[in-house]
Amino acid sequence: MDKFQQSQKSKLFKTSTHDPYCSQRVEGSAICPQCDAVYQAGNWTWKHPENTVIHDAQTVTCPACRRIDDNMPAGTLTLSGSFLLKHRNEIINLIKNTEKKEKAEHALERIIGLTDSAAALIVTTTGIHLANRLGHALEAAFKGNSDYRYGDDKYGLSVNWTRDE
Ligand SMILES: [Zn+2]
Repeated sequence: MDKFQQSQKSKLFKTSTHDPYCSQRVEGSAICPQCDAVYQAGNWTWKHPENTVIHDAQTVTCPACRRIDDNMPAGTLTLSGSFLLKHRNEIINLIKNTEKKEKAEHALERIIGLTDSAAALIVTTTGIHLANRLGHALEAAFKGNSDYRYGDDKYGLSVNWTRDE
């Protein structure tokens, strides 16, 4: 790992603990009225059969739904290059399947939206881990190049993926 990667890694570590949307303290357990995610023992998860009975749960909107409501993405993935125009459907399928897997494991990692902008496709996410995973999934499936930029003063990750030809 070179110095640049090292600094990117420490930035990830530093910023990932400072998501302003996760700083809200919840006492006890809670349920999100919008997506049914469950807050227990300090974590938001999906309802599992073993925790369907939640005692004294409060109603609290989860950080992912709040980001969706505010349209305040934590991750932004920008795809560009002529390969995108020719393989748009395959690329979108990969993005959706990757979200499905990540979301099943981590309730707060979701896609907010997919937007077309000139010759680019912009994907916004509620969590930086999903944006990171999407960048790596694109490289693994379609090659091309991804670069990852973590926010300096603001919690967030921007990923640019591009492939020409
Ligand atoms: Zn929610």
